[in-house]
Amino acid sequence: MSGIPLGRHRKIIQAVRDHGSVTIEQLMALTGVSHMTIHRDLHALAAQGLLRKTHGGATSLIEVLPGDASPGAESSACAMCGQAISPRVGFTVRLTSGQSIATCCAHCGLSGMQHTPMDDVRAILTRDFLYQQTLDARDAWFVIDSQVALCCRPGVLCFATRDDATRFQAGFGGSVHAFADAMRRLTTGHARRHAHSG
Ligand SMILES: [Zn+2]
Ligand SMILES: [Zn+2]
Repeated sequence: MSGIPLGRHRKIIQAVRDHGSVTIEQLMALTGVSHMTIHRDLHALAAQGLLRKTHGGATSLIEVLPGDASPGAESSACAMCGQAISPRVGFTVRLTSGQSIATCCAHCGLSGMQHTPMDDVRAILTRDFLYQQTLDARDAWFVIDSQVALCCRPGVLCFATRDDATRFQAGFGGSVHAFADAMRRLTTGHARRHAHSG
């Protein structure tokens, strides 16, 4: 293994552009490499903002218009607090019924989750704060109450990896939590006064 697989990356980007979305299987057939290699390629390309990684494949970023962290949402006002939804920190819960609940940020999104049975949830779309790739909040890491509050307070920022969240925390404070823990903190209101995490 040596060098950056530019040719393959270009093929992948081209396929995503041509088709709008592609599965890992299609990319395996196209490039002749393993599932794991494609997975790694997609991760790298998504980190560069060249496509959007999905479960089992990738989609074009061109579909993700500004203000559209929440494809399918009818309104651009937060379902919890009513303020305008910023594309950068928007947080959308997609239900199995097909309905979407769009909120302004993970603060409102996670706070609102207490009313939503997890069985009804098909996906929870948010964006990595650093790279802006779309991710499912259930796989995300959250930094609560850092010095960077772009929307509601205490601010809640999402990261694709625990490493990124921890590095961010080192610079900007706050506490790092996985999904269930972050939701618990917001729904019980502990985050407001208690910045220390165990
Ligand atoms: Zn809100
Ligand atoms: Zn907010």
